[in-house]
Amino acid sequence: MPLLPRLLRLVRQEASSIYCRRRCLTTMSSGKRLRVLVDMDGVIADFEGGFLKKYRARYPNDPFITLEDRRGFWVSTQYGQLRSDLCEKAISIWESKNFFIELEPLPGGVEAVKEMAQMENTDVFICTSPIKHYHHCPYEKYAWVEKHLGPDFLEQIILTRDKTVVTGDILIDDKPDILGVEPNPTWEHVLFTACHNKHLPPCTSHRRLLSWADDWRGILDSKRG
Ligand SMILES: [Mg+2]
Repeated sequence: MPLLPRLLRLVRQEASSIYCRRRCLTTMSSGKRLRVLVDMDGVIADFEGGFLKKYRARYPNDPFITLEDRRGFWVSTQYGQLRSDLCEKAISIWESKNFFIELEPLPGGVEAVKEMAQMENTDVFICTSPIKHYHHCPYEKYAWVEKHLGPDFLEQIILTRDKTVVTGDILIDDKPDILGVEPNPTWEHVLFTACHNKHLPPCTSHRRLLSWADDWRGILDSKRG
């Protein structure tokens, strides 16, 4: 190989190795990197809005619950209380092909996550629970992340039904109770406000993020050493 290309290749290899060593050292020696876990549905992807739109289109003659009247985390439970057959009809919506990929981003979420990922000493992961009807959901969650956050973010996806076993400093999630096999998760759960949880009484154990226009940067800063 001619000298110049060989030299260029060596310089590139060395630069890349220096970058990796520095990143490893920062992580190991100070442990100062902040790890933020961001939920998907109801935090960056508009599950509730997407559900209502598709439910009304598929079942135009059946009753529905406005977002204003939504109570409780589980959509299917509230629809089942409205009329018993509506529980299954609700489930049929998010088990359908294209439900997850067609969810609209929630205002400011994609921008906030991208900004977070650019912050110094900050690692961001999308931590999301796929539904057990797995034919479309896991694939479409990856496709949604690629479409809205870009292909590099495919490295940052954690699909799990149990978020308590994932380690992190903060978990931003709209589900009020996040339970699993680990009784003491490492993360602080910051409750992201959604139509189904906004009426819950203030809870001393949860800080809230009211929306992506709220001070998420301040919450991150409060966790830095
Ligand atoms: Mg959620």
